[in-house]
Amino acid sequence: MYVVQRNGPRCFLCNETRETNNHLFLHCKFTTQVWNLFFRLTKTTWTMPEHTADLMSCWIRRGGSKSQKKWWRIIPSCIWWTIWKERNGRCFEDKIRSIHDVKWKCLETLFFWCKQNCIEEVEELVDFLGTL
Ligand SMILES: [Zn+2]
Repeated sequence: MYVVQRNGPRCFLCNETRETNNHLFLHCKFTTQVWNLFFRLTKTTWTMPEHTADLMSCWIRRGGSKSQKKWWRIIPSCIWWTIWKERNGRCFEDKIRSIHDVKWKCLETLFFWCKQNCIEEVEELVDFLGTL
């Protein structure tokens, strides 16, 4: 349900706080679960920065393992695209998907984008998906 506060709309994913760019894409408890999936996948220990711009500069420097490097760079965009679509589905179509479905959609999107960009080093991702 769309709730408007004096200082802006509530987050459509958690409905607990005001929706901002940094909350929606980095700190929302719903979004955090998607990030955590990728951190487990890449065996990454990560402290989420306050702002999305900071994340991008940290993310590029980290780079994941050698075999992960090519698809590592796609992960933030993939998460943000999936979260943005979920947010808009809830906002404009009253369509709510479970966190499990959103995680799965995000993994599918990453795999598809890797294939589109001719990134072949996605075996680790495929192996990981096989364990789900
Ligand atoms: Zn939220």
